[in-house]
Amino acid sequence: MAIVKEEKAERILKKRELKKTPVRHIVLQALIESPSALSQHEIEKKFVQHFDRITLYRTLRLFEEKGVVHRIYNSFGEAKYAICSEGCHEHAHSDHHVHFNCLKCKGTFCINEVHIPSFQLPKGFSPIHYNFSIEGLCKNCE
Ligand SMILES: [Zn+2]
Ligand SMILES: [Zn+2]
Ligand SMILES: [Zn+2]
Repeated sequence: MAIVKEEKAERILKKRELKKTPVRHIVLQALIESPSALSQHEIEKKFVQHFDRITLYRTLRLFEEKGVVHRIYNSFGEAKYAICSEGCHEHAHSDHHVHFNCLKCKGTFCINEVHIPSFQLPKGFSPIHYNFSIEGLCKNCE
């Protein structure tokens, strides 16, 4: 399992032409391994001995720009990060799936199985970013 996770992290970095640095590799592995999306604070808590806050902040920003991770806001207004789907590119995210926010454990989950159908907005409205989220209890809290 550990090897799979490591290989996946390496493959993602290579695909986006990102140099492999220890921070990038560690953060990516943490996100791959986690069943739910992680906030900057949650990642920070795990690796506080490895790197500082600013480095982590910059890494997440870069990942987001490069189409490696996408940002989701949960019901509490907290930003969470999750690994992107294969179709994402630099400055072009295509994570058109539903996000589930658990009210009990506060976990945010990508529900890749549920795709958001295409929709028509009224004239004069052009979407730039959209986020469909469902609130409730996750499978661990039910
Ligand atoms: Zn994406
Ligand atoms: Zn839960
Ligand atoms: Zn997602």
